[in-house]
Amino acid sequence: MDKAWYEVGNWSLDANMSPKLDKALTEFTSRIDDEMFQRFGQEFICIVDCAIGASTIRPLDVACAPHAKKKFRHQVYIMIFRREVERLSEKATLGEVAHEFAHLLLRLDHKIDSETIPTGEDMADTLAVSWGFEEEINLNLAEWEALEGPTRGRGHAAR
Ligand SMILES: [Zn+2]
Repeated sequence: MDKAWYEVGNWSLDANMSPKLDKALTEFTSRIDDEMFQRFGQEFICIVDCAIGASTIRPLDVACAPHAKKKFRHQVYIMIFRREVERLSEKATLGEVAHEFAHLLLRLDHKIDSETIPTGEDMADTLAVSWGFEEEINLNLAEWEALEGPTRGRGHAAR
């Protein structure tokens, strides 16, 4: 059987990830500034592209046996992209990636679970735009709307 994951630093990427999403992830990491790159690089992130319904971040709290006496736990973030991302253009796919990383940063640095609060989608978009992904975010919004209508947006459960 083929390898299920390939690893880049602390990140584990689904080895069967779609080439388009893989390319968007590579472009995202090449465009963010060094500080942001280091920030995300510190975190344990698993990236998967088979979510049903919505792209999302799922934190996983893992108890670590060698640290058990200290009650130390490892936080792993599972970033899962919707299957339907395949239907987006390359730029809109990059917008999806930037949007999910913005959700992750809001969680990491501000302890905000922006996927469950009403203004969370806008917060994530605004943050991604501030990183220089305005065109990609606008295309992402427009393409989801064309595919699924204005009420679905990116298809987060909270919407
Ligand atoms: Zn979102």
